[in-house]
Amino acid sequence: MGFCEEEVTTINYNLAIAILSESMSPDHVTIIKKLSEPKRDEEIAAELNVKETVIRTLLNDLHLKSLVEYERTKNKKTGWYTYLWKKREEKITEYIQNYLQNRLDILQADLDVEKNGSAFRCGCSRVSLEEATETNFVCPECNEPYMEFDNSTNVYKIEAEIVRLSNLLRNL
Ligand SMILES: [Zn+2]
Repeated sequence: MGFCEEEVTTINYNLAIAILSESMSPDHVTIIKKLSEPKRDEEIAAELNVKETVIRTLLNDLHLKSLVEYERTKNKKTGWYTYLWKKREEKITEYIQNYLQNRLDILQADLDVEKNGSAFRCGCSRVSLEEATETNFVCPECNEPYMEFDNSTNVYKIEAEIVRLSNLLRNL
């Protein structure tokens, strides 16, 4: 997947925007959109009518995640540095893939817990049938009885989300 609007289908572009927005913030996405061509931070600030310090903070966040890079040049007269910022298409794609993969790993772990038979709960925790049996179905922590509960809705929700994210990942 590339990140230029011209190069990729609308769905993938929107997907990339949505994921970046969710994992970072809509303001970070605004900056990335502004970098359809390399720009100096003061140019972006002027275009968005936002303080340069705010733009630099957002650019630094993106730089920490390797999603942008810069070229630094020194003005010989003033001795000041200017930074020309560019987005890194391949890193953005990689970042989105990693983000989706991490979400999937977490969901898979959640699903394992749900399916592991931790189907009894008290006022403070969830345990398996074996654990509930060991304490005669009374929780040693809160002294409430362990009651069986139906976690099929949880399982269904997690499975649906896994399918959704797997499809996104596959279609990147
Ligand atoms: Zn308890």
